[in-house]
Amino acid sequence: MTIREIMKYIESEYEVINRTPCEVCGGAYLAEDLDITLVDGIPFDVCDCICSHCGHEKSFMFTAPFVEEDNGLALARKLN
Ligand SMILES: [Zn+2]
Repeated sequence: MTIREIMKYIESEYEVINRTPCEVCGGAYLAEDLDITLVDGIPFDVCDCICSHCGHEKSFMFTAPFVEEDNGLALARKLN
């Protein structure tokens, strides 16, 4: 994957977050932190979000197909 494709992928994650209303008050989530984690050897992209209205916190998880090699993790950190 090129950096452009990775950016596109992360953008689509933010779209999902933007379309998801807060489960407490229906407000909009704001992305606070983006992290890459391995679950059973599969890279996941974990985005910690906070409701802009009530402060409710929620973590969104996405598979991270762009993390394929060791340097993929470093690249993802760089983009963060
Ligand atoms: Zn809320």
